[in-house]
Amino acid sequence: MNNSKIWLSSPHMGGTEQEFVKEAFETNWIAPLGPNVNGFEKDLENYLNEKVFVGALSSGTAAIHLGLILLGIQSGDEVICQSMTFSASANPILYLGAKPVFVDSEAETWNICPMALEEAIKDRISNGVRPKAIIAVHLYGMPYKVEEIHAIAKKYEIPVLEDSAEALGSLYKNQRCGTFGDIGVLSFNGNKIITTSGGGAIVTKKAELKDKALFFSTQARDNAPHYQHSEIGYNYRMSNICAGIGRGQMEVLDTHVDLRRNIHRFYVDLFEDVESVTIFKEPNSNYFSNHWLSAIIIDSKKNNGKTREDLRLLFDSENIETRPLWKPMHMQPVFEKYAYYGNKVAQNLFENGLCLPSGSNLTNEDKGRIKEVLVKFFKSNKNKA
Ligand SMILES: *Cc1c(COP(=O)(O)O)cnc(C)c1O
Repeated sequence: MNNSKIWLSSPHMGGTEQEFVKEAFETNWIAPLGPNVNGFEKDLENYLNEKVFVGALSSGTAAIHLGLILLGIQSGDEVICQSMTFSASANPILYLGAKPVFVDSEAETWNICPMALEEAIKDRISNGVRPKAIIAVHLYGMPYKVEEIHAIAKKYEIPVLEDSAEALGSLYKNQRCGTFGDIGVLSFNGNKIITTSGGGAIVTKKAELKDKALFFSTQARDNAPHYQHSEIGYNYRMSNICAGIGRGQMEVLDTHVDLRRNIHRFYVDLFEDVESVTIFKEPNSNYFSNHWLSAIIIDSKKNNGKTREDLRLLFDSENIETRPLWKPMHMQPVFEKYAYYGNKVAQNLFENGLCLPSGSNLTNEDKGRIKEVLVKFFKSNKNKA
């Protein structure tokens, strides 16, 4: 029997990527600038379709770092951040010597909770510190509560950095994720919905802001024939080789979204009758998730005491990769000392949730193996067995 590794989410090439890379070689544009970089930015701007400006960078993390700089974050400032996320959402706050204030999730989208957010803002203001930015994340491709979150941000005049690293191809009320924030962030890391082998992008609403981001991303060189610097710069620009992969991937982005959504449907069908499992789904038709990762919550009380960790280990023994949901930042040793607002929504998700294999390149045979494990694990747990 085939026992090759099934990954949670692995790179999936469309076919034309190598053409763009080959062209870069043939024209000797092996540099962090060139026609593929410009072309990839144009492709993304057209795709996002909201009069936005896109700057291609070396990673999503770099985009968050530069985004916070563009929002004027300085040492000692406070920045609110969704606790339930990947550490890269929060780390750049610390790069700048600012302080994160973590906020819990709500149970519908698993993203930043509007009530806990407002409580946090009010409490910080009453302590005499007005938060300088809000980092909201579309986790696993699911849009956060866009209207509620942006209404609160507007009310208190705090800009939003929209971490859309996992949500390229997702929409809220037919508007693409990545275009809601004062600054948007995309990632093209190897495990994301499309990849440049490593890369990211910053999305702005003004051309000057994109220019400023690119200025900082290329060592902050002043306009002079010699190397002249009035500000601290970074080496964060995307290379023309990586952007070539990105141009090829843009041709298959919508197909990848369809494939990931099909995998999600495969899991929805599988768990239909399993009482102890809640599958992560769009709350209503305003939400359109790319379903970057399909995830479930297991109620072990309804499952003979068997937990998500038992399921993870069973998958592991069959050479199938799964992963617990993101461990909230306020529970991480490195962030424990910072303020946190909310209850235990994120913590409960972490403790009972599991991400299942979701790659757009899963085969029918892979699905068969996954199904076998799930049927075995939940056998005694069917309503209508
Ligand atoms: C992947 C990811 C990032 C960072 O992107 P990189 O390109 O890997 O630096 C940031 N935030 C979230 C939520 C992510 O999933």
